[in-house]
Amino acid sequence: MRVVLLGPPGAGKGTQAQIIAGRLGVPAISTGDIFRANVSGQTELGLKAKSYMDAGDLVPDEITVAMVKDRLAEPDAKGGFLLDGFPRTIAQAEQLRSSLEDLGHGLDRVLELVVEEEELVRRLSGRRMLVDGQMVQRDDDKPETVRHRLEVYREQTAPLSGFYEGVGLLSRIDAIGSVEEVTARALRALGADDDGEPGQPAAV
Ligand code: AMP
Repeated sequence: MRVVLLGPPGAGKGTQAQIIAGRLGVPAISTGDIFRANVSGQTELGLKAKSYMDAGDLVPDEITVAMVKDRLAEPDAKGGFLLDGFPRTIAQAEQLRSSLEDLGHGLDRVLELVVEEEELVRRLSGRRMLVDGQMVQRDDDKPETVRHRLEVYREQTAPLSGFYEGVGLLSRIDAIGSVEEVTARALRALGADDDGEPGQPAAV
């Protein structure tokens, strides 16, 4: 299955991506994670991406799209993938469509995790991650950057919801509730829950 997970920062995409990809038996590919690994490793890509990430801006498409194309060409992504955090602009979505077309594929479904903005701000300001045994706040989870990232999401990424709805690929998932509840809704939308046959249309 080839799936895109869409949703604002703080909607729980990273957590759900890992669980859903595990259930589908495909790799979860997070552009944010790839960028962060490159920043910590001080690679050329990381150095290019860092200033945009620190400011809460999107890394330019030419950098991001090339990186995703390379990742999708790796053997483990041949049979399917779950993309987390890509595409984030209509231009990236168009590029993804044409890269997949070149490979003779298309997306099977786009899941949008829906959470209202007040809740996102609350979640992001309290979010911590484990780095070298310590719980730390991501630089881009600082309050001013969070506000800017949400603005960037509204302006540049939210239009993808209509874009994918227009081609009949979108399922909106209520992302309020426990991790397990949200996962169950997502798997149902994919027809991959315990009651459904994988690949069957979702009854939502
Ligand atoms: P995330 O972990 O998905 O919240 O991503 C963290 C940061 O990485 C974002 O705020 C962007 O600076 C950058 N990033 C991740 N994915 C993309 C993308 N598809 N396009 C541009 N920038 C991205």
